[in-house]
Amino acid sequence: MNERRIMHIDMNAYFATVEQQADPALRGKPVLVGGSNLERTVVTAASYEAKALGITNGMSMQDALRLCPQAKVVVGQPERYVETTSRFLRIFQDYTPDLEVFSIDEAFLDVTGTEERFGGAVAIARKIKERIRKEIGEVLTCSIGIAPNKLVAKLASDKQKPDGLVVVTESGIPAFMKTVALSDICGIGPRMERHLLNLGIDTVDKLARYPEDRLVRRFGKYGALLHFMAFGRDDSPVHPYWQSPPYRSMGHHYTLPSNTHSLEEVKNVLFKLCEKVGRRLRADHYMGSTVSLTLRRSDMEYFHKQHTARDYMDDGLLIFQEASRIVDNWGWCGDIRMVGVSVSNLVHQYRQGSLLPKEIKRMLLLEAVDRINEHFGDFTVRRARILNTPLKVHVGGYVENKTDLYGRLE
Ligand SMILES: [Mg+2]
Repeated sequence: MNERRIMHIDMNAYFATVEQQADPALRGKPVLVGGSNLERTVVTAASYEAKALGITNGMSMQDALRLCPQAKVVVGQPERYVETTSRFLRIFQDYTPDLEVFSIDEAFLDVTGTEERFGGAVAIARKIKERIRKEIGEVLTCSIGIAPNKLVAKLASDKQKPDGLVVVTESGIPAFMKTVALSDICGIGPRMERHLLNLGIDTVDKLARYPEDRLVRRFGKYGALLHFMAFGRDDSPVHPYWQSPPYRSMGHHYTLPSNTHSLEEVKNVLFKLCEKVGRRLRADHYMGSTVSLTLRRSDMEYFHKQHTARDYMDDGLLIFQEASRIVDNWGWCGDIRMVGVSVSNLVHQYRQGSLLPKEIKRMLLLEAVDRINEHFGDFTVRRARILNTPLKVHVGGYVENKTDLYGRLE
């Protein structure tokens, strides 16, 4: 089989550069994008100038400002990011229909066989960079990785920031994988990293040398995938945006306006969340049998429990009954900050047509809002207005789950 040419494009410090593009006064300065509630928000995106001063995404805004008091704080504007994203997606589409929208600032393109028409992957990458600068804005840059598969393309785009272009060929993969840390791999999160560490695996090389059958025994099907990852192998196709992969779970969570230890209050919120999950399941013609409950305590610890029911359900009340039983049997203590519920083990009853551009826009918008919210619910009112849904202010802050490269929950 001919080598595939997969491109991963990642916009650099996206929300921050979009703001710098929109407001010339922010250019060349440390910029921190976050939610509107300074007390509880975190840095969703830091400009390169801010990163150079030690600020990282996810840091609390207060800590960031202590580190860099001169930074300009900007309240994120989801509509602006979605608009910019749809503009660069339109540029990408000029080169291939096989375009997977991976997140609001990342996409995979399958550009196999484009030599004759466009001069191949590298020529396309250069052209895309130039067009983004010319057609969208000179401040916006992207890092591009080109490789025979998505896994390595994503790792490659991460290697040079900002404005990078890294090409890895099939024969170059073994050497390239030696430069990669386990935590760099999309699909190995902190929890998996800990599991691997328990097996004495702390490098990609050690993972590659670990017997595959033992990985499978320990992690099931995912073990085989891990083995492949260690060798930089990945057969997953680029899922074009018009054939979006099916949902693995649907859920919502909500950060309380203030922490609570009242069981009743937690259940009240839970009920509204379950109703909303049920509505979404029905709207998309899914039913699910596993109900998962997540609580986050005021000390930021997460607690997670799930239960699989005998029947599939899409009714908010039934979901609530399951979730409520989990709460009752839990015996948790401490102040609760966030409540989340999701339904997985989904079966799809029937699927109507393909993903419409409108839905992509909705998905991107939700992601933008979520990243800005970062669990703090700052944009509740705004989100309700944007999405034109009848959410009440005090039950807002809903977040939709999304799946990562391998379809598991992030
Ligand atoms: Mg990015």
